[in-house]
Amino acid sequence: MPSVSSVVNDLQGRDRKRFGRSTADELELGIMISPDLLEILACPVCRKPLVLRGEDSLKCNECKRVYPIRNGIPILLEPEATIEQL
Ligand SMILES: [Zn+2]
Repeated sequence: MPSVSSVVNDLQGRDRKRFGRSTADELELGIMISPDLLEILACPVCRKPLVLRGEDSLKCNECKRVYPIRNGIPILLEPEATIEQL
């Protein structure tokens, strides 16, 4: 019959493994535009770099167009953009 401490160690080991998996799942689900990706994104109209505006859109400071981000994918199409009036 195993001692109490060896059973506790076994349970803690299993908990750690479960935690590791759930962290990986969260990383896959958490969609973020990385700075690297942001660097290569450019406005299709004036070829200027875009800046992240909120969590679901990209803005061109040159022509004031705001491009939507859908399911983590930036939609860099002129007809999809809205022009922000200031
Ligand atoms: Zn632009």
